[in-house]
Amino acid sequence: MLIDTHCHLDLPPLVDQLDQLLAEARAAGITKWVVPAVHPDGWQHISELAKQHPDLRPAYGIHPLHTANATAEQLQQLKQLAPEGVAIGEIGLDTTYGNLDKQEALFREQLRIARQHGLPVLIHCRRAIGRTLAILHEERADQMGGIMHAFSGSLESARECIRLGFVISLSATLTRSNAIRPPLLAGQLPLNQLVLETDAPDLPPSDHQGCFNRPAWLHETACKLAAIKGMSITEIARETTATAQQVIPKL
Ligand SMILES: [Zn+2]
Repeated sequence: MLIDTHCHLDLPPLVDQLDQLLAEARAAGITKWVVPAVHPDGWQHISELAKQHPDLRPAYGIHPLHTANATAEQLQQLKQLAPEGVAIGEIGLDTTYGNLDKQEALFREQLRIARQHGLPVLIHCRRAIGRTLAILHEERADQMGGIMHAFSGSLESARECIRLGFVISLSATLTRSNAIRPPLLAGQLPLNQLVLETDAPDLPPSDHQGCFNRPAWLHETACKLAAIKGMSITEIARETTATAQQVIPKL
């Protein structure tokens, strides 16, 4: 059994063929999905999907992309909704969007909500690892820990995240022939510091470039990790599932 720790099943085109995609993924050994919100407008929808499909585990939060329009009311709403989720996410910093001071303020607010509720956090960090780590330290994120989603930073940065109680999530970038850092992380870090994700519909595996990513393809990332570790897919599934459950106890 594999857990997909980051999959946008509420978004098109996935949500339009959800039953079929989940059946296909279950046949490939995937049994649970963490569905992180990106925008408050999607919170209710994710909540409804999670009620219809108990294996979909919601996480609520505001993605850094949507910082500009975030309001105090939305944060108030997040405080109320947070306990329904397994984590707060996805939240973080992304320098490709600009507006970093506002992103940082929103990130801190959401880390505080997570700490109040004792919930782990799902971190989106793009070209901002130094600042992200400083904020995680200052906001005492070690008290709740979480997942560095689709992490492609250096081994040194990964180890700093791990010291803060975080684990590293590998996506299908691991399967790409030109990937440098993900295979290094996969080879160097032990399985109690690694989890797997698709980030579907984004980040398709190397054999499916140009397609939208499907939940079943988590299996390809797991196979690649098994090859790098010289282990069986069964062992990879058992260990990464245990790591996911340890960092997100509600799983
Ligand atoms: Zn995402």
